[in-house]
Amino acid sequence: MDEYLAAIRGRRDEIMARVDAALERAGRAPGSVQVMAVSKTVDVPQVLAAIEAGYRLFGENRPQELVRKLAALGEVEGLPDVRFDMIGNLQTNKINAVLGRAARIHSVSSLHLAEAISSRAERRLAAGELASAQPVLIEVNISGEASKSGFTADELRAAFPRLSELHGIRLQGLMTMAPRGDKSIARATFRGLRELRDELAAAYPACDLSELSCGMSEDFEAAILEGSTLVRLGRVVFNPAFELE
Ligand SMILES: *Cc1c(COP(=O)(O)O)cnc(C)c1O
Repeated sequence: MDEYLAAIRGRRDEIMARVDAALERAGRAPGSVQVMAVSKTVDVPQVLAAIEAGYRLFGENRPQELVRKLAALGEVEGLPDVRFDMIGNLQTNKINAVLGRAARIHSVSSLHLAEAISSRAERRLAAGELASAQPVLIEVNISGEASKSGFTADELRAAFPRLSELHGIRLQGLMTMAPRGDKSIARATFRGLRELRDELAAAYPACDLSELSCGMSEDFEAAILEGSTLVRLGRVVFNPAFELE
């Protein structure tokens, strides 16, 4: 594990240098993007190494894994505060497992899901079992690929009045995934997310839409150039063999 720790420490330094350079190129403030370590493909020892290397925000795409890893870390003494966010497809029958445990749910991909999260959260708030409304991001399918989940831009425009009045959730921004492979398409996707956010923020000034969760191992620099405030990095963090271009 020492060798692994050394490898992901070195990798973290490289990632942070690239994040800083992209922020500077974009004329953005240092530190204005959070780096999430997506731990869905690794187990607790690798997460512990990542904590030691300096990561404090983790992402999981399956509720059971998020619950299991949080419970395992809860047994370890002397750990700094770490957060886990839910970033994957969430079925309504799994909402209760992640409510209050996931610091934030990035993958609210339909009005039905938003309403289900909100009503369960309101019930738990009323019972004193939840401290505050569940922070969420709205997942948008900017590229329009049929295989991707999330609101299309038009669906989100139509649903927004209703979304903005759900009391059990606290909107914080938007999330998207770019198509794999083509850098210029990825960048256009991130730009589309930002433009949609700007449009909604102007139309609903009372809503907080400050977060843009976008950018993964292959395209995080393009995402930062287009305004990402949170990059979700899996392979580049945890797999020392992943080649950073
Ligand atoms: C797996 C995953 C990531 C990280 O992907 P990498 O390409 O390994 O960086 C980011 N976001 C979501 C939603 C994921 O499922």
